[in-house]
Amino acid sequence: METYRAGARSLAALSLVLALALALALLAHVVAVPARAAAEEAPLLRGDLPVRGGLALLSTTRNAAVTDVLAATRAGGCDVTLIALATRGAFRTYVPGAPPFVNAGFPSGLDASSTLVVRCAKPPPDVPDLHLLMLVTKTNALAADFAPADLVALPAEAVLPGGATLTLAEEAAEALAEMLEAARGQGFDVRVRSAYRSYAEQVSTYQYWVAVLGEAVAGQRSARPGHSEHQLGTVVDVAIASLGWGLEPALAETPEGRWLARNAERFGFVASYPQGAEEVTGYAYEPWHLRYIGRTHAGWLRVSGLALTEYLTALWDEVE
Ligand SMILES: [Zn+2]
Repeated sequence: METYRAGARSLAALSLVLALALALALLAHVVAVPARAAAEEAPLLRGDLPVRGGLALLSTTRNAAVTDVLAATRAGGCDVTLIALATRGAFRTYVPGAPPFVNAGFPSGLDASSTLVVRCAKPPPDVPDLHLLMLVTKTNALAADFAPADLVALPAEAVLPGGATLTLAEEAAEALAEMLEAARGQGFDVRVRSAYRSYAEQVSTYQYWVAVLGEAVAGQRSARPGHSEHQLGTVVDVAIASLGWGLEPALAETPEGRWLARNAERFGFVASYPQGAEEVTGYAYEPWHLRYIGRTHAGWLRVSGLALTEYLTALWDEVE
């Protein structure tokens, strides 16, 4: 009996040990599973990816195949165009998509803590109508031979009574026709006094204003050749009969001017030289000078609260 009891005691002790071991193993398992999962989720690459294009200095956090590095950079929003591995003071490069022999010198497996330079392509800008957004200012000129390819003559009802033929780029001419028709629908007879002006015409326009006003004042009123938005073929100066078809700031206070200020945007036209932006644009207030930039940008411009000059400068900084 003694033997049996002793045996039973050791069996009980053994069961206890086994149960404890099992519990510990289970506990270890429970602890181990999230730890391993966390290790798997840790990013392969350390460093910031230039998702808007450019170079980034990255390092690997564990051993990885070059295909894993490619996948990690692409998952991070980088369209990889080059990976350079810094190794013993030299770089070995990898070009995604190139034939294998191009990348033959690049190791297929990378060690942990490898230093990489990754180049990401700049994504194409999601900006419509870039052809309508050239920046023309006192410091940004158009080439003397710049001219729109698709100039069309404006219809007689769009220009001053008895006025000379005026032309605009086709897209702007169509939007203008819609805008003037909508104005007529409100009982407003708005006419175009000046539209496309070639570089040569701007030479004589500028010389005329210099002769009349002197060089200092002429610069406020007229652009030097190459610096006029009228050379774009998307710009009009509009006039009304009650102001003698002249170009007057008073246009803004007339029913026609107020209608234009509220509605030009619907047709893609904006005032290039608004009131209060003289410092930015370098031009006096010109409520009659309307530039076609397309409906999308006309809306974005209003939301931005910027003058057109500032808007276009910011936009090209973004795009280029
Ligand atoms: Zn003008």
